[in-house]
This record gives sequence, structure tokens and C-alpha cells, in this order.
Amino acid sequence: MKVFDAVVIGSGPAGITAALYLARSGCSVLLFEQLSPGGQVLSTESLENYPGYPKGIKGYELADLFAAHLDGLDIERPTGAVESVSGTAGQFNVRASGEVYACKTVLVCSGARHRPLGLENEDKLLGHGVSYCALCDGNFFRDQAVAVVGGGNAALEESLYLSNIAGKVYLIHRREGFRGLKVYLDRLEGMPEKVEILRNTIITRLNGDTELTGLTLQNVQTGEERQLPLDGLFIYVGLTPATEFLPEALERDAQGFLVTDTEMRTNIPGIFAAGDIRSKLCRQVITAAGDGATAAQAAFIFLEQLHP
Ligand SMILES: Cc1cc2nc3c(=O)[nH]c(=O)nc-3n(C[C@H](O)[C@H](O)[C@H](O)COP(=O)(O)OP(=O)(O)OC[C@H]3O[C@@H](n4cnc5c(N)ncnc54)[C@H](O)[C@@H]3O)c2cc1C
Repeated sequence: MKVFDAVVIGSGPAGITAALYLARSGCSVLLFEQLSPGGQVLSTESLENYPGYPKGIKGYELADLFAAHLDGLDIERPTGAVESVSGTAGQFNVRASGEVYACKTVLVCSGARHRPLGLENEDKLLGHGVSYCALCDGNFFRDQAVAVVGGGNAALEESLYLSNIAGKVYLIHRREGFRGLKVYLDRLEGMPEKVEILRNTIITRLNGDTELTGLTLQNVQTGEERQLPLDGLFIYVGLTPATEFLPEALERDAQGFLVTDTEMRTNIPGIFAAGDIRSKLCRQVITAAGDGATAAQAAFIFLEQLHP
């Protein structure tokens, strides 16, 4: 059985970069993707903060360019979902689509999924007023009215971020108390002219057919309904890391993201993690690609130490 130097799981920005760097270093690489290359970039309408594209770039265009960068490189790219990873340092087995592949290192770049609210036309309005990323899309709503939904740090931090851009920010939370840091909440409460906090409130409907025009809200204590016209909604009700196929022994943080050192090493020697799957501050295309490059370099050094 062929033993690959590296199996890279996921071909979003992190995985594509890792595979690219490893292949250019002369390593044999198997890159798994369960869908199409590009990862979350494919569900991004337009990216305005990726360097080199001052006028912005459509998500699908950037995804195509990332994938094209792999053309001509010696990388095997089967389509399929990785189902399990087992083994120890230098001797791993990766199972996908019923086949087992042997490898010396594993680079986990399987990303994360934003948890949706589960409302009827949420998918349809994504990129048309509904967003899961204020850092990415906030600028589209300069001086307009937006809402943020959620009760954790992400919702509070992004509300603060948006308060510098939008004309008005509504922070919607289904409970009375917030899970996020008090210091953030204090700052938001300190600018009532800009930020209105709607506690004990849920969104029951996203209004608008092709563009979001507003929300139907319900107070969970009184049952009272109200209409809130606005331009943008940012959903921060959680992010789910794609780790279900990984060994239990891999260290995770309280939210389930993989813990690594600054060189992307996990607690299992030979397994590296890069991109949104990691426990980290900033989940963006550029940080995912940076992680991918670092993980590839760390894996290359690990391989050299296996066979000095
Ligand atoms: C709507 C939206 C807008 C965004 N806008 C921006 C923006 O403007 N600017 C910016 O910098 N960032 C933006 N982001 C964030 C950015 O897209 C992510 O930070 C980045 O894509 C993370 O890259 P990644 O490679 O770590 O993971 P992902 O992009 O999540 O890619 C992971 C890949 O792994 C695959 N995978 C998962 N599990 C398996 C498995 N078991 N087997 C095989 N394959 C698997 C997935 O199918 C996916 O293709 C946005 C995100 C979203 C959702």
C-alpha cells in the first residue's frame, strides 16, 4: 500500500494552501474534499478584505483561483468525506468512502459551519442582507440599520464592530442575560443612541423575498410580536467545527475547536490543524491560508525528523 507523506483533509483556503506548500516541498500529498474546492469561500458573495483585490472578488472566483493553483502539482485529489483518522506518529490510517489510506502526517483543515437560525428563507437571503460575518460584510451596511442575533462573545464583539460602521445596531438575544463578557456588554449599553438591545426576543421571520427588508420579532415573555425594518442581519448563534471524524484524544477547547501551538501542531505528534477548525481569534481566509502554510512547513520538518 502506498504511504503518503501527508493527507490533507478539506480543500478550503487552509487545506489548499497546505497541499500547495507540501507538494512544492516534494512531499506526496492526498487532498480530500467532500464537496467542491473553496470551502466557505464558495458561500461568500463577495470578499472585500483579501489583499490583492482592492475592488473585491466574488467568492466563487477566488475559490476557482485557489483550486487552479493546484493544477500541475503532484497532488491526488479524490472527492469524498473522511470518515475516520487513526494511528500514531508517522503511521496514520485515514478512512474515506470505504477505502483506507496510509500516511505519515495528517493536516486537518476541515473548517467550521456557522449555525443557522433555521428560519424559512435564511439560505435564500444569505448574501442578500443576511450574513454570518460582520468583519467580511459589515462594510456593505455603512450608515444603515442592522441587527445582530446571539448572546455570546461573538455577538457582542461583532455588535461593537458594527457600531463603528452601521447607522443603527439592534442586538437581539432570546434570554435576559448574555453569556459574553460584561465589558463588551457595558460598552454596548453605553451607547443607547447607536445600539438598542432587545432581550427576551426571538426572530420568527426574515422579511423580504430577494433582499432582507426587516424582521418579525417576538417577545418570549409576553408573546407580543413586532416588525423591525432593517438592511442587514448578522447571525452569531454558534459555529460548529467539523471534527466528528477525528480521534477523541485530540485536544479541543470548550467549543470543540482543535487546540494547536503556534506551529499548528496538535497534541498528537504528526497531526496538524489549520484554519477555522483551530481554536483561535480570527477566522478569515487570510488567516486560514497562513495557518495552512505554517502547518505544511511544520509537517515537512516532522517528516524530515522521521527520516533524518
Ligand atoms: C458567508 C460567509 C462570508 C465570509 N466572508 C469572508 C470575507 O469576506 N473575508 C474573509 O476573509 N473571510 C470570510 N469568511 C470566512 C472564511 O470563508 C473562512 O474563515 C475560511 O474559508 C476558512 O477556511 P478553512 O480552509 O479553514 O475552512 P473552510 O473554508 O470551512 O473549508 C473546509 C473544507 O473542508 C471540507 N471538509 C469538512 N469536513 C470534511 C471531511 N470529513 N472530509 C473531506 N472534506 C471535509 C469542507 O467541505 C470544506 O470545503 C466568510 C465565511 C462565510 C460563511
